[in-house]
Amino acid sequence: MRIEAVQGDITRQDVDAIVNAANQSLGGGGGVDGAIHRAAGAAELHEACAALGGCPTGDARATPGFRLSARWIVHAVGPRYRDGRHGEQELLASCYRRALEVADEVGARSVAFPAISTGIYGYPPEEAASIAVETLQTADTRVELARLVAFDSATLGLYEERLAAAR
Ligand code: ADP
Repeated sequence: MRIEAVQGDITRQDVDAIVNAANQSLGGGGGVDGAIHRAAGAAELHEACAALGGCPTGDARATPGFRLSARWIVHAVGPRYRDGRHGEQELLASCYRRALEVADEVGARSVAFPAISTGIYGYPPEEAASIAVETLQTADTRVELARLVAFDSATLGLYEERLAAAR
């Protein structure tokens, strides 16, 4: 799988599936979740999410992308960061792995990821970037392209450092 990093808005990515940084209720929220709901069509996406009946932390569920150019949205529920001693690393890695597995199930070959948990959920961005890159690099998947979408240039820099170190 090719892994690349770009700076931009996840809702504008021209890929088969975009990943949402969702919460357990899949009821919508702020940050990426709010942006995705607005761009996809809030009413349709809300209904599709409600039908899924929630999602545990560390896991992922797919809905259609509705008005997005992406055909699918993979809603991944990241951990809320407390102190790093509550399984946060494993739960965040699990989000990336499960998002790829769900992408495989729906047949998506290109997937864009936001920096899951690093906004409202407070995950330290440096460690989150390491987990994202390492988990994607070791994933067993039919996905051909994973794109890490940084909202800001600092996050892009973190991804670029880690991808360069791995080359
Ligand atoms: P969480 O609740 O998992 O922390 P957030 O949505 O609050 O999720 O933030 C996750 C990350 O997504 C943050 O780094 C934030 O800057 C970034 N972000 C917010 N909006 C967008 C967007 N439209 N596209 C890409 N990334 C975004």
